[in-house]
Amino acid sequence: RAKEAGKNQYAFFAAEMTQVAKERLKLEVKLRKAFEQQELFLNYQPRVNMKTGKMAGMEALMRWLDLDLGSVSPAEFIPLAEETGLIVPMGKWALQTACRQTREWQHMGLKNLTLSVNISTLQFQQADVVEMILGVLQETGLDPHFLELELTESLFMVERVEAIRKLNLLVEKGIQISIDDFGTGYSSLNYLRYLPVNVIKIDKEFMRNIGKLAYDEALAEAIIAMAHSLNLRVVAEGIETETQYRFIRAKGCDEMQGYFFSEPVDAITFETLAFHVQADQVKVALI
Ligand code: C2E
Ligand code: MG
Ligand code: MG
Ligand code: MG
Repeated sequence: RAKEAGKNQYAFFAAEMTQVAKERLKLEVKLRKAFEQQELFLNYQPRVNMKTGKMAGMEALMRWLDLDLGSVSPAEFIPLAEETGLIVPMGKWALQTACRQTREWQHMGLKNLTLSVNISTLQFQQADVVEMILGVLQETGLDPHFLELELTESLFMVERVEAIRKLNLLVEKGIQISIDDFGTGYSSLNYLRYLPVNVIKIDKEFMRNIGKLAYDEALAEAIIAMAHSLNLRVVAEGIETETQYRFIRAKGCDEMQGYFFSEPVDAITFETLAFHVQADQVKVALI
């Protein structure tokens, strides 16, 4: 095969490309079908208040279980959905489903949990995104104060003025805004001053080497301190170990999310866990 390729490198690469493109197209068709046939679902991952040890809320995370492919990671299918534009209807579906579910949990007695939903940059760039979000709140009956939208820094690189205008309309209604994967994108911090943002979520990349690398610990500590000096709440993502947990607690981090407390789980499992935590049966073990 290498010999053939040597003879005609262009054809070789073209064939390879076609193979990759074919695979992508196949996955795209499968994803579209899965979405249309309502095979996607949401998992929920608890967010824990570091001071009280109680559950502060949950992040809704999309899941896709395919019969042939098994569980496909969002890291794979979300970028695909973004490239094809499918993220717009998919994202709306996720918001509707999660708001409806949160409303149900409130009726069952799980009050005071804030729902976080990821909103893709492409989705937020839609001209009618504000109407869409407010419409979903209205139709599901969820109080805007219980909704937090997770946006990424990439949004503010392209359409900053327009994005801020939309954010203000949402914040006016009581919706909270967080910057997800903080620290991995746009490097200038100056943009923060223009944003009606309440929360930053430190990317799990910064948590990975806590207890291992002093440099990374210094970086994590600096991000927490900076956020606090700007009056932002800080959520640490990807807390997997007791060492990480103790570190961020010592640094005054407000909330945590990670396997150390719980992985993202299906709605029924989340509900059971939330009731136990609310009844103080499962306070975060180490607080
Ligand atoms: P994200 O918004 O940063 O979500 C957090 C990711 O970290 C989730 O990955 C979660 O499962 C994972 N995680 C949580 N705790 C830990 C931990 O302790 N260790 C490690 N290693 N990972 C942890 P997931 O569910 O695979 O989702 C990946 C990304 O896909 C999300 O990152 C988000 O950007 C995107 N995504 C997922 N659902 C949606 C959605 O409904 N809409 C949009 N636009 N994007 C979504
Ligand atoms: Mg997120
Ligand atoms: Mg995200
Ligand atoms: Mg994140």
